[in-house]
Amino acid sequence: MKKHNFSAGPAILPAVVLEQAAQAAADFNGMGLSILEISHRSPEFSAVLDEAHGLVRELLNLDESYEAIFLQGGASSQFFMTAMNLLDENSKAAYVDTGTWSAKAIKEAELFGGIEIIASSKDKNYSYIPKEYSVSKDTAYLHITSNNTIFGTQYDTFPDIEVPLVADMSSDIFSRPIDASRFGLIYAGAQKNMGPAGAVLVIVKKSMLDKVNRTIPTMLNYQTHIKKGSAFNTPPVFPIYVSMLTMRWVKENGGVEGMQKHNETKAALIYGEIDRNPMFRGTVIDPVDRSKMNVTFIMAEGKEDLEGQFMEMCNEANCVGVKGHRSVGGFRASIYNAMPLESVQVLVDVMKRFEEKYG
Ligand SMILES: *Cc1c(COP(=O)(O)O)cnc(C)c1O
Repeated sequence: MKKHNFSAGPAILPAVVLEQAAQAAADFNGMGLSILEISHRSPEFSAVLDEAHGLVRELLNLDESYEAIFLQGGASSQFFMTAMNLLDENSKAAYVDTGTWSAKAIKEAELFGGIEIIASSKDKNYSYIPKEYSVSKDTAYLHITSNNTIFGTQYDTFPDIEVPLVADMSSDIFSRPIDASRFGLIYAGAQKNMGPAGAVLVIVKKSMLDKVNRTIPTMLNYQTHIKKGSAFNTPPVFPIYVSMLTMRWVKENGGVEGMQKHNETKAALIYGEIDRNPMFRGTVIDPVDRSKMNVTFIMAEGKEDLEGQFMEMCNEANCVGVKGHRSVGGFRASIYNAMPLESVQVLVDVMKRFEEKYG
C-alpha cells in the first residue's frame, strides 16, 4: 500500500509523475533506450531541456529579461554561488535570518562581500518572519528564504524594498503565484516541491550579472550555463526530466494559481485541527507567517510525554515523515504541491483519534 508521505525532503511527487519517470527509465519515448543511457546532446534530451526551461518561464510568467538554468550542487551551492556572482569587495548585500538555511546562506556569502544581517527571528527560535526593517539603496540585493522548511514559517508577502530580492525558494517554488519582477535571482533545490534530488533551478535577471570585479571559475559562473542552455557539461539528466514532468503536472492542474488554491485548502484543514485540538499547539506565533508547505506543531503543555504514542498512531495509519526537525522538536507535516487533500485528512483523523484516546 502506498503511504501518506509527509517527509520534508526528498519529498512526495505526484503519482502520475513517478509512473512516467519509471516508464522513461525503462524505455524513453519508445526509443528502445532508457533516458538514463542516452546522450545529453541527443535531440530527445534537448527537447526535454527546452520544455523544462519553457515550463519554468511559463509557470512563473518570466519575461525576456530573465534566464532559467538547471545546475547541480543543491541549494547549498547557491549560498555561495549567488554571492560570488553578484557581490565583490566594493559591494554589500543585506540578509534576513529566518532559520538554519538563511544562516548557512549568510555564512557562505560572507566569503565574497560585505553582508549585513538586517533582521533576524533567532530571538524566538525562528518562530516568526521579521517585518520591520529598511534596506539602503546602495545594497546589491536583499536575500530572503521564502519558506523556512525547518521552522514552518513562510513569507506571506515579500518585503517592499527598492533593491532586488534574492530568494531561496527551495521549499515553496511553484506553490503560488509570485511577481517575478521583484526578484533579481531565485534558486530552488528540486527535491522539495519540484522533483527529485540532484538538480537546482536558478532564475536570474540578466542585468544582475557581469558587475563584479572577480574572476569566476567557469563552472561557477552563471553566464557559462546560461550561454549553453544548462548543458555546458553533462547536466543532471534524470532530475531535470522528472522536474519537467512535475512542472507539466503543475500546468495541467491549474498552474501556480491552482497549486495555491489546493495548498491553502490543505493548510486550512490541518491548521484548523491544530488550533481546535487541545492535545496540540502550533509553533509559529503569527498565523500570517504559517507555512503552507511545512506545518510544524508540538504537544500541548503537559502532554509532552505522549509524543511517542502519537507517532505510533501516525505510523499505524501509514502517515510517514511526521517527525519534527530536531531544532524545533514535535512534529512537522510537509504538505507540498503533490500532497493530496485526502492524505491531509487521514492525518487530521489520526489527530482526532489521538485526542479521543488520550485527551
Ligand atoms: C533543503 C533546503 C536547502 C538545502 O538544499 P540542498 O539541495 O540539500 O543543498 C536549502 N534551503 C532550503 C529552504 C531548503 O529547504
